[in-house]
Amino acid sequence: MKIRVLGCSGAIAAGYKTTAFLLDADVLIDAGTGVGDLPLDALASIDHILLSHSHLDHVLGIPLLADAVLRLRAAAGRPPIQVHALPETLAALRQHIFNGVIWPDFTALPSREAPVLSLHPFHIGDRLDLGGRIIEVLSAAHTVPAVGFAVDAGPASGHAHWVFTGDTGPNPALWRRLANLRLSHLVIETAFSDDEAEVAHVSQHLCPADLGHELTQLAGSVDVRITHIKPGEVEAVMQGVQALNSPHRISALQAGQEMAL
Ligand SMILES: [Zn+2]
Ligand SMILES: [Zn+2]
Repeated sequence: MKIRVLGCSGAIAAGYKTTAFLLDADVLIDAGTGVGDLPLDALASIDHILLSHSHLDHVLGIPLLADAVLRLRAAAGRPPIQVHALPETLAALRQHIFNGVIWPDFTALPSREAPVLSLHPFHIGDRLDLGGRIIEVLSAAHTVPAVGFAVDAGPASGHAHWVFTGDTGPNPALWRRLANLRLSHLVIETAFSDDEAEVAHVSQHLCPADLGHELTQLAGSVDVRITHIKPGEVEAVMQGVQALNSPHRISALQAGQEMAL
């Protein structure tokens, strides 16, 4: 198994794409602007999309992806792309995106019987089985219902997990769960610098000081990758992170990076 970072920024600019990870060739974890860097045949190979929450920087690739691959998948007789998320997230997609105003309802196109998208609710604690790959839905603490994910790399790895926190403020429940999982990587957000701690708290994101407190709840020495930094803030955030004096190996996640599980 491998995970490729298609996008890991908190906003856009040349060279900066928002959150999207590709697990192997067929599972997308969040659908930010990074999705648009995949060639058409790679887009058409995506069979599952897992969403951490409803915010635009994580979902805007879905309506455009559906439109891009509809004909190719219909011609090849492929099943609908399964979109997996919390019930609240799926309801938000229906109400605010696939409503016939912002975008057509691609859960009923090209036909209601054989649409290009289908929506599948999950709940925190569920373990999804996507073609033998087990992915656990983790809790997150954000301004809208939100989750993170733990991808089980399987028995050959001793069940090491690639963990993505999603967008989240401080979240003690996450650390209680991770205490019982083996981690290969922790991809954790730090959206704001310490100068913007106030904004981070209101918007339920982390700043480096919060990150430091969160990581004290994670035992051992883990490969920690920082994600969701805004373009132009990378230096300020990473300075704060490097000053934490943490036992973990912390670096900034980069678009294009591949992590082998
Ligand atoms: Zn968010
Ligand atoms: Zn976000």
